[in-house]
This record gives sequence, structure tokens and C-alpha cells, in this order.
Amino acid sequence: MKRAANEVTEPQDAEARRRIPPVICYPVDTLPRPDLASYQAARDGWEKVDEVVVPPREARCFHVPAGSFFRIVSIEGPQVGDLNLWAAEDINERFFSGKTRALHGTHLSTGDQLWSCLPYLRPMATITHDTLDWYGFDGFGGSVHDVIGTRCDPYTHKLLSGDEYHHCCHSNLTRALADRLGKPKLEVEPAVHDVLNVFMCTGFTRDTGQYFMKASPVRPGDYLEFFAEIDLLGALSACPGGDCSAEHSSDVAVCHPLLVEVYRPKAPPAGWTSPTRNGYSRRHED
Ligand SMILES: [Zn+2]
Repeated sequence: MKRAANEVTEPQDAEARRRIPPVICYPVDTLPRPDLASYQAARDGWEKVDEVVVPPREARCFHVPAGSFFRIVSIEGPQVGDLNLWAAEDINERFFSGKTRALHGTHLSTGDQLWSCLPYLRPMATITHDTLDWYGFDGFGGSVHDVIGTRCDPYTHKLLSGDEYHHCCHSNLTRALADRLGKPKLEVEPAVHDVLNVFMCTGFTRDTGQYFMKASPVRPGDYLEFFAEIDLLGALSACPGGDCSAEHSSDVAVCHPLLVEVYRPKAPPAGWTSPTRNGYSRRHED
């Protein structure tokens, strides 16, 4: 695929094979869709019950009861955030960025849902408002709020630079989760997982397919709003990359805090019930 050495000769029908149109892997026509109008109506008269400020180059945990909302808000300056979600009652159930990407595409916005890992595979949260929805896809193929990256981590940084850096999102999330659960960092580290890159503007280069980032279009006052489908434990890291216009995994970029707000509606959305775990029998028969 990289065609670096030109060692392989094309077959005669190479162009014909390339012209075969693609098929969507997971058509979502049969996917149960959330009733967004009732979710949005449930915001009338809601009450803010908690807020957590996430300092730059750090992470913080927060709890959102099923049926409540939370917002991730840009304050002070452009900043991207790395979001992890777990079922509050069992952190083995966690956000599955890969399957979320397969179902909803590379970048998420209003109406998309964040799915949990196997064998649970149910919606953990639904995006109910995105002030950056106007951005769409830019001329580079970039867009906002991706599920194509992982999270900046000290292992990849060590591999590429030889240096130790302890405030990558992976480490920030690990420290925050250890603090919240009162457990050692090494014990909780495996629960940290691939993220929703909130406010980050990313894509793949057309020529080499490489993951790229560019300055986030987020500005103070922008927010991404979620409805909690199940009881959630969340963790948000204010990435050391700041707005990710230049680099991450260092103390060079200008960074800002992020704000998490939790809102409790007067009543749950009309007709809403918290989703149950996936119904597959798990027999895996021959
Ligand atoms: Zn990061």
C-alpha cells in the first residue's frame, strides 16, 4: 500500500479493480436512533448540579447519573480534550472508539452515540449539541471531535524521542482515575482507553494516509453536550498539545483549562429508558 520500493507490478485490470465503488460497512438504517427532540426538550428548566475545572496538562474525573446531561466547555482559550468514559458501576465497560467509528464515521457530532466495548456494546452517551457542527469537513479532509486517534501517551513519545514525559493524556487520565478510585496508578492504567478527541481537528492525509492534526477551531464558549444513557464515570484530560496546532507531548504548547458541567433535567426525556447490555447470547457456537 505504501508503494515505497515499487517492487510490485500492477495487474492489467488494476484500474478496473480500483473503480469498484465502496460499500458502507455498517449501514445504520436498522440502528435504533435516539429521539433527539425529546432529549433536547428535557433541557428546559434543567439544573446545573456539578462542575469540574480540568487544569491544563491534567485530567479530572466526573460522575453523570443516567438521564442527566454533561457539557465539555472551552474556557479561556482554544484547547482540546481527551475523553474517557466508563460505566460507573463497572469500569470493565468502557467507551469503544473503534466500533463508534465504524458505526458513525471518523468524527462525531449531534445525534451520534458513544458505544461501549464488547460484550456490553450499548450506547453510553448521546451527543445532543455541538457548537462546532458548522465546521464540517475542511479542504484537507479535517474535522472536529474524532474517534480516529488514540490519546497522546508516554510510550509512543519514548519510542519516537527517547524522552520521558509524564503529562501526556494517557498519564493524566491514569492519575485522575487512580485518584478517583483510590487505587495505584499501575492497577488502573489498563482501564484507560482510546478517547473521543473533543474539539481536536484531525484527519488523514490524502497521499500517505497519515493521521494529522491542525489548530482547533474551538473558541471560549464553545461546548459539546452529551446525554448520559447509563450511569457514567468520565475522565477528561486537557491535552498538553493545547489547540494541537504544533505539537503535543511536551510543555511547549500554550494550554488552557476545560470545564465540565453536569445538568439534571426536571424529568427524563419522554419515552426514554436506559439501554440494557447487548442481547447477544455469548454462546459463540460451532
Ligand atoms: Zn493528548
